[in-house]
Amino acid sequence: MSVFKGQNFIDGAWRDSSVQVETINPSDLDETVGTYAKATPVEVEEAMAAAKRALPAWSAFNMQARADILRKAGDLLMARATEIGLLLSREEGKTRPEGYGETIRAAQCFHYYAGEVVRAQGQWYNSMRDGHNIIVSREPVGVVAAITPWNFPIALPSWKVAAALAYGNTVVLKPSSFVPGAAIMLAKVLEEVGLPKGVFNLVIGDGSAAGNIMIDAADALTFTGGTATGRVVLKRAAETMTKCQLELGGKNALVVLDDADIDLAVEIAANGAWIQTGQRCTGTERLVVTKGIHDEFVERLAKAAAAYRVGHALDADTQIGPVANEPQFKGNLEFVADAKYEGAEVAFGGTAVEARTRGLYMAPTLLVNTRTEWACNQHESFGPIVSVVKVEDLDEAIASANACDYKLSAGIATTNLKNAERFRRASQAGMVMVNAPTAGLEYHVPLGGRSPSGYGPRETGAASAEFFTESKTSYINHGAI
Ligand code: NDP
Repeated sequence: MSVFKGQNFIDGAWRDSSVQVETINPSDLDETVGTYAKATPVEVEEAMAAAKRALPAWSAFNMQARADILRKAGDLLMARATEIGLLLSREEGKTRPEGYGETIRAAQCFHYYAGEVVRAQGQWYNSMRDGHNIIVSREPVGVVAAITPWNFPIALPSWKVAAALAYGNTVVLKPSSFVPGAAIMLAKVLEEVGLPKGVFNLVIGDGSAAGNIMIDAADALTFTGGTATGRVVLKRAAETMTKCQLELGGKNALVVLDDADIDLAVEIAANGAWIQTGQRCTGTERLVVTKGIHDEFVERLAKAAAAYRVGHALDADTQIGPVANEPQFKGNLEFVADAKYEGAEVAFGGTAVEARTRGLYMAPTLLVNTRTEWACNQHESFGPIVSVVKVEDLDEAIASANACDYKLSAGIATTNLKNAERFRRASQAGMVMVNAPTAGLEYHVPLGGRSPSGYGPRETGAASAEFFTESKTSYINHGAI
């Protein structure tokens, strides 16, 4: 297959560079997927300056015209879902349905935010003073720096960029260096639908080098990535008091109670833990299982793991693609080795597996007989690895699920409404799922977790107005008019 060539997109122009970065297909380490022009520090500064220049005109841009641009971008993404999905499969290792589905989700986000442009944003209040009233309006936050990770290369940039543009902001996007291809396809779409120059810019560059320049010059930073990186960017943003929205790591627990529908519990546990190679921030990494159902549940889940076909992302029968990149692959294997050293037993997987090409393949992995406080239940693996903790009852299950710093997503499998509601209320996670996988989010409602899984206002849905706009309260004395 041909090598994808990508450049930086700054002030409406494509810019090449003497420094190139390459990406490799995780399904086939002998295949180069893309070569990309790396932005120099001066180019990153230029991108930020272009976004600043474009801001006044874009924030005053006709509402209908702005909505039309976003809707057309969604239409084009939808029309190109097969092509972009293929690039996702080659560069990130998603299966064909995952790559296609993610691109459709990106398109839906643009359609959703096209609607948000024309939705009412302000509030009108009576005043305590006679002859006055009060208007609370929302204004664009300004130049937005968007920094994204490698696991959702098109959907994640799309929900950030579409929201930023909808509320009248201009953007500089820096995608993950592992997967810049899809973000470049997004830039091409935005160029084609007639977005004025400078409103959207894309730079390819190393996290800290490009990131620092972006954070220093931006009015707001929307960042998704690991919690450790989140801490670094937050410190940097504190210097300039740049507004922050950080979506960070997770260590999501699914509680399985004795009264669960065991077929459903196995299905949602397997889906949460292993689909998309476990590389979802909301993926299930901990299973907290009450003692009555524990043995049968573990036995059936191990069988489910064994039934998955792991292989090349482009093969029609592949259900789990490769791990997305080499550092993540090595980290996964080290994670299992450390867990075994702690005392975990491997009920299935734990190793690399072979496929028809030389790729980063790992078996879906089930660790059992682990304890809540062990590192394997406290540190995010971000791989296809899940550990089981056996507990006495719902009280202990709630305590175990909450006994972890991360607070992103959590779930419960139960047929008892009272137990479900108790868990829903007691969980400290930002998102709670009842009889559904801990992963699998919708774009019209808030996404995010409590610190250290998230920091600042939530993203997606109407909640995104909180971050992408600033509030203005105006007191108006009619008597004086
Ligand atoms: P990283 O934190 O390594 O990188 C994320 C982005 O930050 C990349 O674009 C990276 O650039 C950039 N970056 C790295 N260092 C800096 C820095 N000092 N300043 C500014 N930017 C920087 O995360 P991964 O890409 O490895 O993604 C996996 C992580 O993302 C997991 O922890 C996962 O849980 C989390 N995640 C959270 C989600 C949520 O909604 N809560 C959703 C999806 C993922 P470069 O690639 O050039 O290094």
